[in-house]
Amino acid sequence: MPSPLPALFVSHGAPTLVIDNVPTREFLMDLGERLPRPRAILAVSAHWDTDASRLTTGTAPHTMYDFYGFPEALYEMKYPAPGAVDVAARALELLGQAGIAAQGDASRGYDHGAWVPLALMYPEAQIPVAQLSIQTRRSPAEHLALGRALAPLREEGVLILASGNATHNLRDVFNHDMLAAPVPYAKDFADWLTANVEAGATAPLLNYLEQGPHGPRNHPTADHYLPLLVALGAGGGKGRLLHDGYTYGVLSMAAYAWG
Ligand code: ZN
Repeated sequence: MPSPLPALFVSHGAPTLVIDNVPTREFLMDLGERLPRPRAILAVSAHWDTDASRLTTGTAPHTMYDFYGFPEALYEMKYPAPGAVDVAARALELLGQAGIAAQGDASRGYDHGAWVPLALMYPEAQIPVAQLSIQTRRSPAEHLALGRALAPLREEGVLILASGNATHNLRDVFNHDMLAAPVPYAKDFADWLTANVEAGATAPLLNYLEQGPHGPRNHPTADHYLPLLVALGAGGGKGRLLHDGYTYGVLSMAAYAWG
């Protein structure tokens, strides 16, 4: 039996990451080739926030342009990966077994939190993808549980790819150049995050707003942090830092793997 695939968390930054000449883009372009090839991908994006868990069940989810005022080239990109209908069905089954209410969504496409990293990692768009939503109305612990429920997928050839941002204060983004050095409040949080991921310290990671340095300033909303907890739940134990870096001085672009 093949060894389980890792669960990943990547930081997707601005939608222009897909075209910007920054180290994180290079990292993601290499990452797909460094990993064992999955038969399918379950993407968990910060940009699909629902009241209860939802999974894309379409056979050909469309590419969503869920951002405004960016270069025209981004609106011409497509990520035509087929829908991983079987993975969505299996995920619905696993969530049901864990007592987590979830339903399929046949009309939802891939949002940019999913397709931007996927377009860099797997540009040929041939690996089927299902996308799972997050719930900002629910607790960090519930997102850990969501990931734990989905962990068996890793044994079934499915790569769990959670996509958010290690730090995410959007209000500060445009006060800095794209390649600016990290500001202390973001670096303090990202360093704390890496230390706790590497230690497998679940309790502080769940209590990131209170225990992480400048927690509320780095995550004024939970949406870009919660995907990390899904990956932690799916991967379990100690994670490892795959990539470190910053864009706009305030966005840590850290990426982690578990398993
Ligand atoms: Zn985002």
